[in-house]
Amino acid sequence: MRSKIVAGNWKMNKNLAETEALLTELAAKLPDTTAEVMVAPTFVNLATAVNSLESSTINAIAQNMHFAESGAYTGEISADMLQSIGVDTVILGHSERRAYFGETDEILEKKVKTAITKNLRIVFCFGEELADRKSGNHFKVVESQIKNALFSLDKSAWGSIVLAYEPVWAIGTGETASAEQAQEMHAFIRKTITEAYNAEIANNVSILYGGSVKPANAKEIFSKPDVDGGLIGGAALVADDFVAIIKAI
Ligand code: PEP
Repeated sequence: MRSKIVAGNWKMNKNLAETEALLTELAAKLPDTTAEVMVAPTFVNLATAVNSLESSTINAIAQNMHFAESGAYTGEISADMLQSIGVDTVILGHSERRAYFGETDEILEKKVKTAITKNLRIVFCFGEELADRKSGNHFKVVESQIKNALFSLDKSAWGSIVLAYEPVWAIGTGETASAEQAQEMHAFIRKTITEAYNAEIANNVSILYGGSVKPANAKEIFSKPDVDGGLIGGAALVADDFVAIIKAI
């Protein structure tokens, strides 16, 4: 059975005091839910977040990770470092990492393999750009992104994978894919995984939608059968909005 998940990606927002304040507010307002709730603060505040959420069910996760075990990679963070502070999940492949930091499918495949080897769970992001959707190429683009980074994995690795379909044109733009567009793509992703692996793996993987999810549209998007939750950017920075999105699931 796949789990329902609401994950907040805080990106490069919130200093230490702001991080502590938002975590305290979230922990206090967290509704009763069977969904997994995750937040991804910036690296410098991640250990603080892990500690401050110790008695909460909210999981503090990482926004990124390097593929190497250790070494001369100034400014980078390894899987071991994440684990050493109690982090068990990492976001990989966010469109901002792909667009601004040159993360290719090949690099992401290496990161995914390292994370799996190190027993980290992965929230793997992918999605087409506006030009791909306009030209009708969106299914092909999404298929190649997941195939290139994930389809060399053993079947056993899929228990550690959460997928996040995030059409680039909907991230931070206020423009959301319609619930029908999200459902159509999520169903396509499950079909692609069924063909590459099997129906059991495809049915057990959680597929989140990301792209301008807000309290006003969350319920409709989450109502679709192949949408298992959301990866939330802007709305995750406001406790009441994030809580409302959790309630919507
Ligand atoms: C994101 O960056 O993953 C995201 C979905 O952002 P937003 O919700 O702000 O569109």
